[in-house]
Amino acid sequence: MTESDWTKLIKSTTKIGPLSGAVNTPIQFSSTFHQSNFDQFGESDYARSGNPTRKVAEYAIAELENGERGFLFSTGMAAISSVLLTFGQGDHLLVSKEVYGGTYRLLNDILPRFGINHSFVDFSDLSAIENSIKKETKAVYIETPSNPTLAVSDIKKISRLAHQNHLIVIADNTFMSPFLQKPLELGADIVVHSATKFLAGHSDLTAGGVVTKTKELGDQVYFVQNAIGATLGVTDAWLLLRSIKTLGVRIQREAASAQAIAEWFEKSGKKVFYPGLPSNPGYEIHKSQAKSGGAVLSVDLGSKEAARKFVEKIKIPVFSVSLGGVETIVSYPPKMSHAELSADDLAADGITPGLLRISVGLENADDLIDDFNQALED
Ligand SMILES: *Cc1c(COP(=O)(O)O)cnc(C)c1O
Repeated sequence: MTESDWTKLIKSTTKIGPLSGAVNTPIQFSSTFHQSNFDQFGESDYARSGNPTRKVAEYAIAELENGERGFLFSTGMAAISSVLLTFGQGDHLLVSKEVYGGTYRLLNDILPRFGINHSFVDFSDLSAIENSIKKETKAVYIETPSNPTLAVSDIKKISRLAHQNHLIVIADNTFMSPFLQKPLELGADIVVHSATKFLAGHSDLTAGGVVTKTKELGDQVYFVQNAIGATLGVTDAWLLLRSIKTLGVRIQREAASAQAIAEWFEKSGKKVFYPGLPSNPGYEIHKSQAKSGGAVLSVDLGSKEAARKFVEKIKIPVFSVSLGGVETIVSYPPKMSHAELSADDLAADGITPGLLRISVGLENADDLIDDFNQALED
C-alpha cells in the first residue's frame, strides 16, 4: 500500500515511546548511553553519533522524501557543508548559477581551501551543463526553485544527463519541501534542506536535513556528520517532529495565498518571480515536477527607494531574513540572504535593487493584498 503524504506526515512523526507508550516521541536528554554488554554495544552509544529522538526525526525526513537514509544537522548550511565535504581534493562540482547566498560563500570561500572547486552554470541550458563537465567533475548541485529569483531547473533532465556522465545529483529542496516536490523520485541522489524554513515552519529554530537515495551515499554522509559533528540537538529535533505534522496544511494554504498574491502583483503591472504564474519561463517544467508554485515569490518594485517605501508602509508582514514561517516574511535579498554577492554577481543573478522576497504565511490572503495595495499607493 502506498500511503498518501497526508498520512505519512503523521505516521512518520508518531513513533510511540517504547517504555511509556507516550504518543509523542520522548526527548532523550542523554549524551551517552549505558552499554549492558561489554562486547556488543547497543544502538546508541554517544549522542553525536546518534540520539534516539534525533533518529526518529531523521527517519521521518527520509520517509517523506522517499529516501533510504536521513540526517539532521544544526542548520541548513551544516547539512550542505557536510554533503559537500564528502568530496575531496581535486573534485569539481557543477552548480546552478542561482544558489542561496550561504551556499555561494561555502563554494567560493571555504571548499577551494580543500581543493574542491566548482563552476556556476545556467541550469536552464542543458547543453551548457554538458559542455561544463570536466573529467574531475563529480556532482551537479541544483536548487529549484532558486532563492530569491525562483528560477526553475529541470530535475529529471539534469539528472539523466548527470547519470550518463556518472555524476551525483544533489538538490536543495528547501523552497518546496517534500510535500510539494520529491527530487529523489525525479532522479536526484541526495536532497538537502534548510529545515529552518518550511519543515520547522514557525521561525523558532534552525535545522538542516539531508536525505540520500541509497544506503551507500547515506554511509558517506553519516561519516562526515559524525566526524564533523554539526548535529541537531534533541529539543529542536522534537520541535521539528511536531512541526512536520502540520507541514501539509501549512504549505498548501500558504501556497494558495502566494498564488493569489503573485497574480495580484502581476495584474498591478509589477515584475513577479513565481513559478506558479504561466508567464514564468519555468512554469511548465515546475508544473511537471511540483504540486504547486509554493509559498515564496519575489517582486521587483523597480528601485531601492520603492522597495524601502513598501517595507516602511506594510503593516502585516515582518521584515526579516528567512522564509517558510507561519507569519508572512518580507525580505530584501541584496542586503539579507544574498549580501555575500558582489554588485556584478547580484546583477548577473537578476537580484535587482528593487527586489523584495515574500514568504507568504497563514494570514488571510485578502488582508495581505489590501496591505500591499496601501503600501504601493503614493
Ligand atoms: C536558508 C537556506 C539555506 C541555509 O539554511 P540555514 O538553515 O539558514 O543554514 C540553504 N538553502 C536555501 C534554499 C535556503 O533558503
